[in-house]
Amino acid sequence: MHLARFPRYRLGHFPTPLERLDRLSAFLGGPEIWMKRDDCTGLASGGNKTRKLEFLLADALAQGADTLVTQGATQSNHVRQTAAAAARAGLACHALLERRVTNQGADYETAGNVLLDRMMDCHFDFRPEGLDMNAEGQALADELRAQGRKPYFIPGGGSNPVGALGYAACAEELVHQADAQGLRIDAIVHATGSAGTQAGLVAGLYAMNAPIPVTGISVRAPRERQIANVHALAAQTAELLGARGALPRDLVDAHDDQVGPGYGQPTDGMVEAMLLLARLEGILLDPVYSGKGFAGLVALIRAGGFRKGQRIVFVHTGGSAALFAYGHLFNNQKAA
Ligand SMILES: *Cc1c(COP(=O)(O)O)cnc(C)c1O
Repeated sequence: MHLARFPRYRLGHFPTPLERLDRLSAFLGGPEIWMKRDDCTGLASGGNKTRKLEFLLADALAQGADTLVTQGATQSNHVRQTAAAAARAGLACHALLERRVTNQGADYETAGNVLLDRMMDCHFDFRPEGLDMNAEGQALADELRAQGRKPYFIPGGGSNPVGALGYAACAEELVHQADAQGLRIDAIVHATGSAGTQAGLVAGLYAMNAPIPVTGISVRAPRERQIANVHALAAQTAELLGARGALPRDLVDAHDDQVGPGYGQPTDGMVEAMLLLARLEGILLDPVYSGKGFAGLVALIRAGGFRKGQRIVFVHTGGSAALFAYGHLFNNQKAA
């Protein structure tokens, strides 16, 4: 794997820290839990989309684009980081926000990521739930092109092979950090949605011959569908990386037991996981992605899925900006 073959526009603060969580590990009484701090990528409050956007923005600039077009849910962290990337490079940003979550109160469409989108001059429009949002985004790009703009369309979550290169880069960064300190990683766990993060990690590890299992905790799709989505994108990404041989499907594992009532809908496990990490380690997760991802790790540990002495890396994919759109969840929390 040789990532310098691909154009890249530096947006983030890398490498992100790899930290051992001693108080949380002791509390759960199972494996050693480590955290890859991709909530600290540094772009307008950070998160996993920054790594993908380094490759996507470079591709956009190589094609002469003057406008980034993308889509996401109303509280999309991806749209917020895309708006920031556009601002940094002097491009315009247009986004479509899907009203996928409609029952979370008055602040949901104005606070959190939406507020930050506005501040960074992202032009956005809402769409009702259930449309083919990538098709809607392409249609918006066509409209802008007809008006004389040079749009570059980024699919939801930045999840295509170019974007997934960002997580192949993360796999490489993580393995180097671990090797430098003699840390044997037994498993990687993280939240999975549009699939690019897991696909990039799996493809990068495959291309490096680093046999570390990766488990995605789905925040939306049922298990089989999520595995199929991740595998399809991982295989394309491995091919783009020049890896030898077709990427085996059994390298992709996902669980769907944290989705609860649906995307962006709170669950008790998510609230418990978020409070555990906030109170034992001073680390903030988010209710839509990393909170459910971490709840998945806690559930796996409690079910005996990992042994004492193993070292598990949770990739913190960010998202805490969305907390301020979910104030009602935590406003009435009592001290433990
Ligand atoms: C987008 C996102 C994810 C999921 O990553 P995918 O690449 O879409 O699977 C996880 N956590 C946060 C905070 C995100 O914004």
